[in-house]
Amino acid sequence: MPEPSADADRPRRVAIVGAGPSGFYTAAALLNGDEFDYSIDLIDRQPAPYGLVRYGVAPDHPKIKAVARVFERIIEDDRVRYLGNVEVGHDLQRADLLAHYDQVVYAVGGESDRRLGLADEDLPGSHSSTALVAWYSGHPDFIDLPVDLSGSTAVVVGIGNVAMDVARVLARPAEDLATTDIADPALATLRESALEDLYVLARRGPAQAACTPSELKEIAHLEKVDLIANPADMELDEASEEFAQEDRQAGKNVDLLREIAAAPPCCAPRRIHLRFLSSPKEIVAEDGKVSGVRIERNRLTPTDSGYLQAVGTGTFEELPADLLVRAIGYRSLPLADLPFDDRRGIIPNAAGRILDPATEEPLPREYVVGWVKRGPTGLIGSNKPDGAETAAAMIEDFPAAPPAPQGEPAALDALLAERGVRVVRYADWQRIDAEEIARGKAQGRPRVKMVRIEEMLEFLDGA
Ligand code: NAP
Repeated sequence: MPEPSADADRPRRVAIVGAGPSGFYTAAALLNGDEFDYSIDLIDRQPAPYGLVRYGVAPDHPKIKAVARVFERIIEDDRVRYLGNVEVGHDLQRADLLAHYDQVVYAVGGESDRRLGLADEDLPGSHSSTALVAWYSGHPDFIDLPVDLSGSTAVVVGIGNVAMDVARVLARPAEDLATTDIADPALATLRESALEDLYVLARRGPAQAACTPSELKEIAHLEKVDLIANPADMELDEASEEFAQEDRQAGKNVDLLREIAAAPPCCAPRRIHLRFLSSPKEIVAEDGKVSGVRIERNRLTPTDSGYLQAVGTGTFEELPADLLVRAIGYRSLPLADLPFDDRRGIIPNAAGRILDPATEEPLPREYVVGWVKRGPTGLIGSNKPDGAETAAAMIEDFPAAPPAPQGEPAALDALLAERGVRVVRYADWQRIDAEEIARGKAQGRPRVKMVRIEEMLEFLDGA
């Protein structure tokens, strides 16, 4: 067991910035060890905890959201406090965290999105999946996103699980979503949707589809939606065929896609068209908004590493698109004063220890976990081993770490009070949670979300 630090009289103070899955799994890994006595603050800029479990998991996937029960048990541990509605970079600066906590972990996820690099990417009618998912999930920052579903066509770029979620939520009948916790303003817009044809663009072939077979199966079996794939796209090149035989997920996806392509489209009011080997090359605009996407047909060529890369063939086509959703990946944002690897979109680190880019040495007392540590891939459960790795580095480093000068929770509370921050504590969240569930019960839904911060604070404190 490590030697106790110089200031062993008080519990070891840890700030976890970001109360999403990676933050919770890091907290759990620290608490599960018996190395030290802990006092952990989970800090989030939203009043509501759970990050992407609340604001990213699709509303029609309630089973995945059930992981919040696991997180509740962690937050209810006496050694943990929840400090919601506290924004690091605004209410608290990095220097404040280092003054008040022995160790700090950044678990801030990926708040932004990868860009296609095309002109007009920000025209009205064009949205990132990051924004669209947050919109239908009731994230306060995105609830006013101007999503216009009055047109009949949409294009979703990318074929990862997020693209599948977006295509499914846009295409499935709104009455199916009316029994979920989807945000009310989004549900109202979806009820009025005139959408008929939605194109999902995959820049590579069926064997390289990033989505999981279960997501594909789900979208294939949607009521009142035809899923259409082109049989010609199912003729794979030799390298892809080999890959589909070796890789379980790729093989399953190819089998499913071949079944889908073989089934004749029926008569559903909405259609999802899967278009493989297709890259958007130009956003077509009319009257200052998106009206179409010019796409180029690709072929696959292996790079030196064996990766099968999409290369344009010079054959173009224009698809109509009243709505364009770029679902090509999340991206983390830099945090003030902390190093950031702009190319990879992560905070540079070694097993969770933040590295100073000038020296490549770890910064004392500062760590990273989750998407901002390893990039925006992986399921919620991927954060468990990731959190354990970061926690192990923290435990190993702690004996040599100088204690924070103001390591009493009361000192931090006084600082926040002095700055006029209305901290949303766990008991406050429990009241919001109970109210949302009660409102949902009246409508036969798991909950009706409060979608604005002011609404939550007014509910807590009165108007
Ligand atoms: P992802 O799995 O990395 O998929 C990104 C997709 O965008 C890929 O199809 C990729 O194609 C494509 N893409 C990237 N850059 C592109 C470009 N410039 N032009 C055209 N296409 C481009 O990312 P994600 O869908 O955002 O999902 C993030 C993580 O969350 C994943 O690990 C996912 O499994 C997980 N997730 C899971 C669930 C679930 O379990 N239900 C739901 C949502 C998300 P290439 O393959 O060619 O790069």
